[in-house]
Amino acid sequence: MNKVILVLSDGLRYDAAVDGMGFLGHLVETKQASLYQVQGELPSFSRPMYETVHTGLPSSEHGIVANSIVRRSTRPNIFDLAFRAGKTTAAAAYFWFSELYNRAPYDPIDDREVDDESLPIQHGRFYTRDEYPDQELFNIAAMLVRRFNPDYLLVHPMGMDYTGQSFGADSSKYRNQATRQDTLLAPMIVEWLEKGYNILVTGDHGVNADHSHGGTTWEVRQVPLFLVRPGLSGSGNTGQVVSQLQIAPTLLLLLGLPAPERMKRLPVV
Ligand SMILES: [Zn+2]
Repeated sequence: MNKVILVLSDGLRYDAAVDGMGFLGHLVETKQASLYQVQGELPSFSRPMYETVHTGLPSSEHGIVANSIVRRSTRPNIFDLAFRAGKTTAAAAYFWFSELYNRAPYDPIDDREVDDESLPIQHGRFYTRDEYPDQELFNIAAMLVRRFNPDYLLVHPMGMDYTGQSFGADSSKYRNQATRQDTLLAPMIVEWLEKGYNILVTGDHGVNADHSHGGTTWEVRQVPLFLVRPGLSGSGNTGQVVSQLQIAPTLLLLLGLPAPERMKRLPVV
C-alpha cells in the first residue's frame, strides 16, 4: 500500500524522543519499527527545514534560507509530486505549510480550512498560534484520515517547539511533552497501520537549553526518524545516522513515486 503519514513534530530533539516516547520505543524494541538518528540540515530553523524535508534539497538550493521568506516552493516537492500523480493529499499543520505549498501570503480566514482538489494540499487544516494544543492537532489529523483517506498526510504538531522555546530543552515540560505526544499518537498509529499507512515520525530541528534553535550544535540538529510499515517488521534501533535530505526520497519511495532528478539522496528503506 502506497499510503504515507508523516508526523513532523516541530522541535522534536533526538534524545527527547528516544527517552520520552514509550510506545514508539516499544515498536522499536520489538522490531515493529526502525529508528534512525537524523543529522538535520542547516540553518536549523522551521521554514527552511519544512522545505528541506519536502524537497530533499539543502536550504541554499531550495532558497528558503530564513523563516522570513514568505513564498511558495519553487522546487519539486512531495505535495506537488503526489498531487500531480493523482494522489490525495492532506495536512494538519502550521500555516507556513499553506504558504509553502498552497498560497502565499496566508489568509487566516480563507485559507484556514480548505477542501479543494486543485490545490497541492487538497485537504488542509492550518493553525497560526504556536501554543495550538497538540491534542487538537492530532485529532484533526485523525479526522482527515477517516474522512478523506489521503495518500499523503502531513501531521505537524507545535508542542515540542513551543515548550522548548518557552522553558528550554532541559526542562521537565519539554521532556514530558514528548511523552504526551507519544501517548496521543499511540492509538492513532495502531488505527493508521490497520488502514495500511506507512508512518514516519521525525522532527524539523531540535531545541537547546537556551530556548532556541537555528545554530549548528547537536541539540538543534539531531532529530529522530521512526519508521513503521504496515504488515512489515522493522529493524529496531539501527544505530544509523542518516541525512535529513533522505526524508523526501523515502516519502516518494513509500508513495510509489519516482524521485525527481535534483533529489539525489537515497531513501532510507
Ligand atoms: Zn520548527
